[in-house]
Amino acid sequence: MVALYYVLLSILILLYLMQLAQRLNTIAEPQTIKMAKLGRELKAQGINIVDLSLGEPDFRTPDHINNAAIKAINDGYSKYTPVVGYPDLLQAICTKLKRDNNLDYKPNQIIVSTGAKQSLANAVLALVDPGDEVIIPTPFWVTYATLVEMAGGVVKYIQCNIEDDFKLTPSRLEAAITDKTKLFMFSSPCNPSGSVYNKAELEGLVKVFLKYPHITIISDEIYEYINYVGGHESIAQFPEIKDRVVLINGMSKGFAMTGWRLGYMAGPAHLVAACDKLQAQFTSGACSITQRASITGLLEDLTPTMAMVAAYKDRCAYVTRSLQGMPGVKANHPHGAFYAFPDISSFFGTTDGKTQVNNDEDMSMYLLNTAHVSTVCGSAFGNNKCIRLSFATSMEQLEEAMKRIGTALANLK
Ligand code: PMP
Repeated sequence: MVALYYVLLSILILLYLMQLAQRLNTIAEPQTIKMAKLGRELKAQGINIVDLSLGEPDFRTPDHINNAAIKAINDGYSKYTPVVGYPDLLQAICTKLKRDNNLDYKPNQIIVSTGAKQSLANAVLALVDPGDEVIIPTPFWVTYATLVEMAGGVVKYIQCNIEDDFKLTPSRLEAAITDKTKLFMFSSPCNPSGSVYNKAELEGLVKVFLKYPHITIISDEIYEYINYVGGHESIAQFPEIKDRVVLINGMSKGFAMTGWRLGYMAGPAHLVAACDKLQAQFTSGACSITQRASITGLLEDLTPTMAMVAAYKDRCAYVTRSLQGMPGVKANHPHGAFYAFPDISSFFGTTDGKTQVNNDEDMSMYLLNTAHVSTVCGSAFGNNKCIRLSFATSMEQLEEAMKRIGTALANLK
């Protein structure tokens, strides 16, 4: 009896202690992480899994960047850094933006953070008040919506489908705008669709934004270099709206530096000052060693980056050709990033005799359990007809994955 009393008391204390803040309610475990975890569990059971779930370059960071980091350690770069980043890194980012994008920014318009994810979080927290509306075209990188919800904002999705190459048109943008619209957020090249907006398409959107001066635009350009159709086009290139654009970029994708954690924002000086204030309380400046290495990455030889892009381009062509050759699959041709986002909705309602596939999540689980290929369901990115496959893995792995997926899909009747 006494023991039972103590058990009940401990449960009550535990429940009381575990009372978490309400803001956690909007955060689900990302499907990308969930699928990678499930894949690892199956691997641990000895099953040969091909993992196409994670968005991470499979290349090593280029040697000259690694060497710059080693030099920084030996030179004693071990102290706190300025919250916004080292002055010469801010200058290097300005030089890069001029060299690659013909954009003029001053160092006081740049702030460096612990990854583009933190740059995005800073921007959203600095701009969105409870009740503000944020327009996000789908499919989108899932973190955008969570950040907005954590800030108390309301996400307004615009559904863009494979027939439009997953791109937003000016008229659909305009139809979603209200007096409460504070922000518009998008990525080009896009994770997960691989769509890339060209200059004319951006210009069409800019014409709409000009009519609504209360809207700020967050342009996530983290996949800038991973572009298969020529030069990158930034929405910040249009002088009439440049001071309303918050440009986000970083080292993770183009330089294969995901673990180093460095992102940056370029935008109006007063927004940068606000993010400086926020970041000073959350994390302070980004890692000193990473910052020194990033100066080298940004200013020196881009040949290794271009070699990675050439490899992604070959894989992209192969994966797209393979998917387009599978009966029942609709696949666009990604023009950037390293993902395919095929529409597999024609299989909904089918079965292989053992597993019923009724939606995108079922399809992802079916491919994992039957073909032993790990993918991510499209609803994680706001499109429940598709699945996402990352081709940031070797050609051998991709060939194996395509063979297995082709067989698994052919078995669905
Ligand atoms: N934006 C997009 C569209 C991404 O796909 C990612 C990484 N998956 C990020 C931002 C975050 O990059 P970082 O590693 O610099 O935080």
